[in-house]
Amino acid sequence: MPYLRRAFLFFIFYFLFFIFYFLFKVLIGYTMKKVIIVGGGILGLSCAYYLQTSGQAQVILLEAGSFAAATTSQAAALLTRARSDLNDGLMVDETHRVIKQFEQNTHPIMQRNGCIHIASQGDNFHSELSILKNHHQQGKDRGLNSQWLNANQIKQQLPWLAVKNESLGLFYPDDGHADPYLLANFYLQGAKKSGAYLYQGVRIKQLLESGDKIIGVRSDKNEDWIGDTVLLAGGPWSSVLAAQHNVKLGMAPVRSHYWITDNQTPLSPSQAMAIVPNSKVYFRPENKGLLFGVRDSQNCIIDPKELPTTQQGIHDHRFKNDENGWLALEENWQGLIATCPLLETAQLSHYISGISSYTPDSLPLLGPSQEWENLFIAAGCSGAGIAWSGGIGRLLSEQILQQKTFVDEQRYAINRFDNEIENVDPMDATFRQTCLLARINKKTG
Ligand SMILES: Cc1cc2nc3c(=O)[nH]c(=O)nc-3n(C[C@H](O)[C@H](O)[C@H](O)COP(=O)(O)OP(=O)(O)OC[C@H]3O[C@@H](n4cnc5c(N)ncnc54)[C@H](O)[C@@H]3O)c2cc1C
Repeated sequence: MPYLRRAFLFFIFYFLFFIFYFLFKVLIGYTMKKVIIVGGGILGLSCAYYLQTSGQAQVILLEAGSFAAATTSQAAALLTRARSDLNDGLMVDETHRVIKQFEQNTHPIMQRNGCIHIASQGDNFHSELSILKNHHQQGKDRGLNSQWLNANQIKQQLPWLAVKNESLGLFYPDDGHADPYLLANFYLQGAKKSGAYLYQGVRIKQLLESGDKIIGVRSDKNEDWIGDTVLLAGGPWSSVLAAQHNVKLGMAPVRSHYWITDNQTPLSPSQAMAIVPNSKVYFRPENKGLLFGVRDSQNCIIDPKELPTTQQGIHDHRFKNDENGWLALEENWQGLIATCPLLETAQLSHYISGISSYTPDSLPLLGPSQEWENLFIAAGCSGAGIAWSGGIGRLLSEQILQQKTFVDEQRYAINRFDNEIENVDPMDATFRQTCLLARINKKTG
């Protein structure tokens, strides 16, 4: 008999345990925010990661093509941290922090060769130096390691760079670059392991409106997903979807491009990256070749309505007025070969031309839309979405979950240009030119 009684108590105990566990799960399910993310590039995926791992959201991410196969896969993926503004600095620091966290359980994701920002001897030396001093101070406040290098020290690290004797460099030894596809995949796996639902091949054709709220999305196959919040992270395509609902995103699709040379003797994969504002150029090693990009002033900008509809279309797209980037190279050629003489004889093995979404101040558009309750945006990364991805994921997660934000969210507010620019409208050619200028004048990050 005592044996039977013990078995009975045992049964009751486990029965109650399962009942409580089940009720607990149902309760958690009800209190979790259901967030629908449109777009599975690095931004959609990083937001999915931060939201799902918070334990307070159930994420459903819908991607029209394949994950991280649009502009994310084209990035040179320099993960630089020199920033003049503390908020921007904290955003890129968060990416570095989360990468380190991912790396604890696996092989390195980032190649940390360091980055040297150079103030070149010449007319702009003092203004460039003052920007670097600002970055240096800002970095110190954030606990970053950065060191001043004289011209000889720069040449020791980068023997292929022609540096005038009075030039100075600010070296960030822990900066580096990462394969953007790989990093995006870490966000994806992290989100998935924590319970996010991530779907490929689902193209969203419209947002679902109800009064002044967005309550979900509809696919081109007329499937509906209903949620508490919709986050639009559709890269350059975001403008078109938003415009259907009278949300005018202050950004425009502008060309970003770079070249990679064949193998060159003085180059090694472990050398630092270099940013030389005076020549409007950045360099980083790509195995034994040199990857470099220029800030050019070609009018390579596209009406969002004319964007290629597929991911592959983005890769194949060429701007008619400078199809292969020759005009951009020609415009910068003298400065380029004066800074890096090996380019005069090197073969160019690859040319990558893609599209970045630029805003008038080169800062992203992040946060709630003014027009609709429950609609959030993560777009307009102005050529730095990989470096900002961790910060953006964290900020959007905090905003959606109505937590205190780790940076000043107003700095990236969607409507911040409304008082300064007459017609903030990505469909307006004059506004798009304002965004193009931001690309032309960009110096760092
Ligand atoms: C040549 C080049 C070099 C660059 N170099 C750097 C660099 O060195 N450092 C750096 O930090 N950044 C760099 N960038 C910028 C960086 O690549 C972008 O900022 C970043 O990839 C943007 O990510 P995203 O998720 O917003 O966009 P994307 O990667 O374009 O993703 C958007 C996704 O949304 C999907 N989508 C769109 N509409 C819909 C819809 N209606 N329904 C469902 N899905 C939809 C698309 O299929 C796509 O997969 C570079 C960019 C280019 C082009």
